[in-house]
Amino acid sequence: MQPKNEVLPPKDLLLTNADILHVEDGSISKSRSLRLSGGRIVEIGTGHLGDGKAEVIDLKGRVVMPGLIDAHVHILGELAHVADPNSKMRTFQAILGAKRLLRMLRRGFTTVRDAGGADAGYRSAVAERAMPGPRIFISGHALSPTGGHGDKRSHTDLSDPCGCVHLHASFGRVCDGVPNVLTAARDEIRLGADQIKIVASGGVGSTGGTLHTMQFSDDEIRAVVDEAARSGTYVMAHVYSSEGVKRLVRLGVRSIEHGNLIEDDAARMIAEAGAFLVPNLVAYDSISKYGRAQGYPESARSRLEEVLAAGARSLDIARRAGVKIGFGSDLVKDPESQSNEFTIRAEIMKPIEIIQSATLIGAEIVRMEGQIGTISVGAIADLIAVDGNPLEKIDLLTGQGASIPLIIKDGYVEKTALEGDFDRQWSEKTFGTVEKVYC
Ligand code: ZN
Ligand code: ZN
Repeated sequence: MQPKNEVLPPKDLLLTNADILHVEDGSISKSRSLRLSGGRIVEIGTGHLGDGKAEVIDLKGRVVMPGLIDAHVHILGELAHVADPNSKMRTFQAILGAKRLLRMLRRGFTTVRDAGGADAGYRSAVAERAMPGPRIFISGHALSPTGGHGDKRSHTDLSDPCGCVHLHASFGRVCDGVPNVLTAARDEIRLGADQIKIVASGGVGSTGGTLHTMQFSDDEIRAVVDEAARSGTYVMAHVYSSEGVKRLVRLGVRSIEHGNLIEDDAARMIAEAGAFLVPNLVAYDSISKYGRAQGYPESARSRLEEVLAAGARSLDIARRAGVKIGFGSDLVKDPESQSNEFTIRAEIMKPIEIIQSATLIGAEIVRMEGQIGTISVGAIADLIAVDGNPLEKIDLLTGQGASIPLIIKDGYVEKTALEGDFDRQWSEKTFGTVEKVYC
């Protein structure tokens, strides 16, 4: 008899009548079959592949593409910008995070990178199939200088940003000077960070500095970049201004987050360094619609207008400079808008470029190129089936996944809304009733 908590391996599956979207060049191979075994794509061809023992899923001409990758999320977004994130019990925070992860998965996101706030427990819980969700790359706490974007104290708060408080479920931790910054980076790595996040300017929703301030000294940033490299990882940084971006690229930061105010020279530098830009236009769109109701300070208004006006322009500048642009949503509140990033980018980018951002480039950002973000033999079986061709209608990828009836991650069927009762059987076998509680 199986021990109760043992995770069953994914079943062998044969997907038939699939139109495969090759995100590498936008071409489509019609009426293909994909055989999945051991969580990988093991064969692509036509007709009945394998020994006939695999469970068959007839896709009836739907488009199959790689699972989506969001390179900038906040799993604990609801709590990231409240004055005291520890006003909620950690169990409550974890349940909110779990709910958010499940909803992301059901929108077709099979991999996400957390940009500050979530700890390694979320990654483990999903990886060990204790709860449904995308594969997760965590940053732990974002490193912030005193008075920086990650220092959540108000201008009238005289308390010390004591480490014991900041090591709870807050977005950031405060550290100053090379030795302390090094300790903080090492500690985040000790706690399981996949990459180190730093804040290097003010933000829209915070009181710590303007969008143009240069947070952390060059020496502090250099030390973190060096520490990350020696630990086999890299640094991602929150920044807006062109000067700020240039400084960070020069100092070896690999992943530039936001970058709404970049000009041509900064974009060229990102491209030449082989670094990445992860803009998140939907976040500002969301704050402009709902910010007041969500309690954003009135002082955020003028900053918001600045980044909103410049966001689309910076995307165009980056794209023309040949920057590798990742897909990111950065929603703090309003997580259901995640996929609207596709629609907003469509005003500037071609559908294939946006899809590459959310697959191929995302995979490169999390250093899993060839493993995820691609439909090819040997790759991990992270894929989605779409009711139509997203190259013709990018909106098929938006909303809550209504046009994505099949989602497979690591070879496990995570969602099916295909004909028949297949979905019910799978979700119940895999996750019991969890899905019913959340959805
Ligand atoms: Zn940020
Ligand atoms: Zn963020």
